[in-house]
Amino acid sequence: MNTPSHLILNLALLRRPEAPAMTWPILIGALIPDAAMFVFYGWARRQGLPEQTIWGEAYYSQPWQAIFAVGNSIPLGLLGVALGYSLRRSWFGPSIGFLGASMVLHHLADLPLHHDDAHQHFWPLSSVRFMSPVSYWDVDHFGRLGATIELVLVLIASAYLLPRLSSKFSQGLLGITVALTAVAYGALVLVPLT
Ligand SMILES: [Zn+2]
Repeated sequence: MNTPSHLILNLALLRRPEAPAMTWPILIGALIPDAAMFVFYGWARRQGLPEQTIWGEAYYSQPWQAIFAVGNSIPLGLLGVALGYSLRRSWFGPSIGFLGASMVLHHLADLPLHHDDAHQHFWPLSSVRFMSPVSYWDVDHFGRLGATIELVLVLIASAYLLPRLSSKFSQGLLGITVALTAVAYGALVLVPLT
């Protein structure tokens, strides 16, 4: 799934109006699994690699795959949930718990929507990768279906979130993010059909 979609879905599912302070741990937890990918992309661009080499070869090389595995680890996310729960009486316990829960939710959303770019979600227990038949972008692997599922989930989550956000600023930010997701969807699914 695309990173902005994770931010929206995780906020809709994990944020509670009575605990607005958990908004940031949820957003950071939704970002962590993809953080190494942004560093990778910055590094690859500085190396002067063409886009095709970046996503077709360098992405699958070591040590990057090993680095990606850490952020995409379901066991690590669950460890965060357990740690947060055992420290729930301390001031930082709930933040760790929500951060871990948001990471796990990101992993669970990626699991059914990645084909040959699937992550090692069970690191460090196993290096196995679940290759879903459906990809969120690869049109050779039901990418149009995957992208449609992602867009529908984002639209439902946004409709739920919008009236619950307190400031005009965050509502505007949500609107822009949804618009970008729709543009990306159009470029992948609608443009090739015309
Ligand atoms: Zn991801």
